[in-house]
Amino acid sequence: MHVTAIIAAGGRGARFGGDRPKQLLTLAGRPILQRSVDAFLHSDRITDIVVALPPELAAAPPAYLRGAAKPIAIVEGGGRRQDSVANAFARAAERADVVAVHDAARPLVTADVIARTIDAAAEHGAAIAALPATDTVKRGDARRVIVDTIPRTEIFLAQTPQTFRTAVLRDALLHAEALAKAGALAGADGDATDEAMLAERAGHHVHLVEGDSRNIKITTPEDITVAEAILQRGARPASTGRAGTGYDLHRLVEGRALILGGITIPSERGALGHSDADVVCHALTDALLGAACLGDIGRHFPDTDGRWKDASSLDLLRRAVAMVAEQGLQVGNVDVTVILERPKISNHVEAVRAAVADALGVDVGRVSIKGKTNEGVDAVGRGEAIAAHAIALLRSR
Ligand code: MG
Repeated sequence: MHVTAIIAAGGRGARFGGDRPKQLLTLAGRPILQRSVDAFLHSDRITDIVVALPPELAAAPPAYLRGAAKPIAIVEGGGRRQDSVANAFARAAERADVVAVHDAARPLVTADVIARTIDAAAEHGAAIAALPATDTVKRGDARRVIVDTIPRTEIFLAQTPQTFRTAVLRDALLHAEALAKAGALAGADGDATDEAMLAERAGHHVHLVEGDSRNIKITTPEDITVAEAILQRGARPASTGRAGTGYDLHRLVEGRALILGGITIPSERGALGHSDADVVCHALTDALLGAACLGDIGRHFPDTDGRWKDASSLDLLRRAVAMVAEQGLQVGNVDVTVILERPKISNHVEAVRAAVADALGVDVGRVSIKGKTNEGVDAVGRGEAIAAHAIALLRSR
């Protein structure tokens, strides 16, 4: 499913004062806009991104919007929010099945909230993140006298993303344009404050999915203080990873192949073991299992079990990847240090990286393999053994 994110950052933040667009103000050291865009760059549900910026910013966009890991298109925003979204939608990939519109002023949106709106929009046509009201809601008149009390169970506070099947959002925008041309809904009442309103007016059913209390909108300087407190609490589990370490050592003997990451390294001596004695795969398998609190390689692939006697260690690593995937985790990156007196492995590092990346199902850019000697010290230094240390970072899928 091709999902395009539209980040609406066309406004200037009048309620903030000052002449700097509020989306460029920093929140715990990084611009609000960058944090909002990053949330969608890091979501594995998003294919590409269109950012609507004020004209002067669109002409000279910040560096973090260029050279990102996913395609980012930049368009000029319009006078009203719906104009910005219409401009961005015109640039949204024709291939998009679903479009998620997000307010740049909500930099703390989580991957889970993004995914919920996408799933619901794909199923129903339109869905927004929202929170049930917790306060009692009153309707007041011009004198600020209560007219009535609205049943709280009927009240939801809209957040973003607001997500639509492409055809639904196209219809909503065309409908809004037609109404504007006809002169209906002129003035403040006619300007939609969110995209759901456009879809509702066009007769579409918009579903409510669970938002997140941390997904606050930065409207005033006080909101920055609140957002920084939320970040400091580390209250974003979807963005934090789980780290695990692994270590392995095998004796080196003549008459054995030296296998690292499934690659045979030309060597006079090879690692002795029940299996292929691949220290890179063994240390990495332990790092993955450790990060997911799933025990260790000896528990899942005991060398007393004949099934694993001639198993490729690369295959055991693939099984560990599948086990952590069942826990909702995927590999972020790994780093391995191989300690070996001789031969030098530098000429083989790229082949090992490629093989390990393939087994992990990640880009080679997420796999680091380093070699070093033990400076002649201890058994490893005397060439009697090979060792490896590994660290793995796992992320929520
Ligand atoms: Mg081992």
